Amino acid sequence: MGTNKKRSDFLVLGGGIAGLAIAELLQRSGASVVLLEKNETLCSEASAEQQGWFHTGALYTALPRNSFCRTLVANLDDLIDYYNVFPGMNLRVDKHIYTADREGWFSNRTNFYLYAHRKGVGWQWKLPWSLALHRAKRRMSWFELLDASRSLSHQLGADSKVITSVVQTPPAGINLPDVAFTLKSQDRGMNTRLIAADLLRSYLSCGGVVKTNVLAKSVARSQVTATDSAGETKLFQARHIILTAGKSSHLFSDEIRVFARSLLVVSPALTDINFVNMSPHREQTINHLYHRYEGSDYSVIGNASYHDAQTATAETMRRTTSRLFALAKKVFPNLEHAKVAVFYGYRTELTQSSSIRNPLYHIKDYEHYTLALPGKFSLCFSLAANICRHFGIEPVSRTRMPQDIVVEQLIGLPRHVQIAKQLAFKADEQRPNTLGSDRRSRRGQVQSTAAMKSQAARD
Ligand SMILES: Cc1cc2nc3c(=O)[nH]c(=O)nc-3n(C[C@H](O)[C@H](O)[C@H](O)COP(=O)(O)OP(=O)(O)OC[C@H]3O[C@@H](n4cnc5c(N)ncnc54)[C@H](O)[C@@H]3O)c2cc1C
Repeated sequence: MGTNKKRSDFLVLGGGIAGLAIAELLQRSGASVVLLEKNETLCSEASAEQQGWFHTGALYTALPRNSFCRTLVANLDDLIDYYNVFPGMNLRVDKHIYTADREGWFSNRTNFYLYAHRKGVGWQWKLPWSLALHRAKRRMSWFELLDASRSLSHQLGADSKVITSVVQTPPAGINLPDVAFTLKSQDRGMNTRLIAADLLRSYLSCGGVVKTNVLAKSVARSQVTATDSAGETKLFQARHIILTAGKSSHLFSDEIRVFARSLLVVSPALTDINFVNMSPHREQTINHLYHRYEGSDYSVIGNASYHDAQTATAETMRRTTSRLFALAKKVFPNLEHAKVAVFYGYRTELTQSSSIRNPLYHIKDYEHYTLALPGKFSLCFSLAANICRHFGIEPVSRTRMPQDIVVEQLIGLPRHVQIAKQLAFKADEQRPNTLGSDRRSRRGQVQSTAAMKSQAARD
């Protein structure tokens, strides 16, 4: 058994975006951190399965509670305060929030939110949906009025003025009838790999330690027992232990639930417009994000249907995917002839019930460790800043960013990029459903276009 003689201030268990962001901000703020990851690369589980959507809060303007918008706007505050030093963090902060550069952490492409007309929703939803439409219009103007020269989260809730972002008709190229109105949001697409690489570069240059291929097995007071890839047992010691093990956190805490959702990847992109069709009926919502990788573009399409991953069967997932495919086909008639593949992603929440979703970040102390869940990839900034505050450490906004530390080989490629690369590679093939290496992938599953079509026909 090997014992790490040096006791660090923090041991962070799990190198997804939550663990990486926390380790980086703690280390740069003066603590000594060791990050343990069971895989060969960081950010290769849920953090690779996301859609690439940077949430500012605008998506949640139609919900009755303000807490979603507030949490996500506070995240913008933390981002501006502690990450502005990163050259790639291209959020403009002089007056309004907007992106300055196409190739940075966030794209400068607008996300449009298209709200379903009241007429088209079920009778029991007519009144709530009318209220939701009203809220969405009023609150979306909050985002337009935010002044980035002072704290953003305190500005929410002020009386809204005229909403200039209301666009009467949906952007061209999207076949969506029954839209009451369209709003321009401050949400953006994000380059998750660039964010992770920048954080890792900063972490390493500040003296942070990463140990990959190390599986944490058990946690005791100030001590973690782990095994390495050779099966050898190792002991790590630290003053504090932070658990950021994503869906594996349920092995340590029974308050964790895991949800699954499918996403479609279509190559080349069906449109360059980012949008969400908002409806009270989850299965009728549809969203589209435009991505580019190494000169090729592709679409990532999803909806709001999540399943409890502990109870959902393969058949449930196939059915949901075929419904998503059928809906996407209505919006993009060309989908029928496009190269398309699907993958499933898993997200972890701290909740007791599958009907009460809990998608914001959480920090919770247990006897021997502190659990940290980001809820969203794009909430990693606030999560990291709040972990620092949780342990009485004031986050530091400066960091070292030597460009000569090459970290890309240590960061997993997002699943949508992996799949888009394969779809582009198979460009000459008639049937794009021979995604051999994806099928061999350990996580998620890829279902072919042909399988989705036949399931859609059966449904
Ligand atoms: C379909 C889908 C789409 C999404 N889209 C978006 C989006 O567009 N925007 C957004 O902001 N969020 C999105 N999310 C949410 C986002 O992906 C997650 O909230 C976030 O990536 C979770 O990060 P994490 O670090 O907690 O988990 P993970 O990335 O899963 O990291 C956990 C890490 O811990 C490691 N680990 C586990 N057990 C151990 C152990 N015992 N020892 C050592 N290491 C261990 C794992 O290998 C893994 O690397 C999406 C989620 C899903 C499912």
